[in-house]
Amino acid sequence: MSAYRDGDKTVVLVPATFSRAEEKRWVGRMLERLDARDERRRPGDDALRARALDLAARYLDRRARPASVRWVDNQQARWGSCTPEDRSIRISRRLAGMPSWVVDYVLVHELVHLVIPHHGPEFWELVRRYPKAERARGYLEGVSAAPRLDAGGSGEVEEDDDDVVGE
Ligand SMILES: [Zn+2]
Repeated sequence: MSAYRDGDKTVVLVPATFSRAEEKRWVGRMLERLDARDERRRPGDDALRARALDLAARYLDRRARPASVRWVDNQQARWGSCTPEDRSIRISRRLAGMPSWVVDYVLVHELVHLVIPHHGPEFWELVRRYPKAERARGYLEGVSAAPRLDAGGSGEVEEDDDDVVGE
């Protein structure tokens, strides 16, 4: 038995020997499993994007218009990154457990990169429209300087001075 997504459709393959009742039960079960898997893949991306749009409207006069905003698991050295060409923003899931004003700062930082790619004075001028920008930077510096206590337990100290780097 298998199930997969095909565009907007979901295809569930069941043995021809199944009765209607068995088929129905298994299709239901496979759909549940697929939904759970999808949810694991990208939990909270919609909420993150909504938050980014709200911040852009509040602090950046909607100048930054991200096409996609999502959580990613593969960013260990950076808190966030963005690609101005396709207006995509990626936020490290390591931030998920941190205070919301810290996540908001990283979102604002990346949103501003959609307008200004480098870290020049005009970049920081826009970032500081977010009132807790300095506080959040201090918070993240503290986290970066502390030995890593999570899974790996390697105790390594990250060396990036400005973890939020746009690409
Ligand atoms: Zn940056």
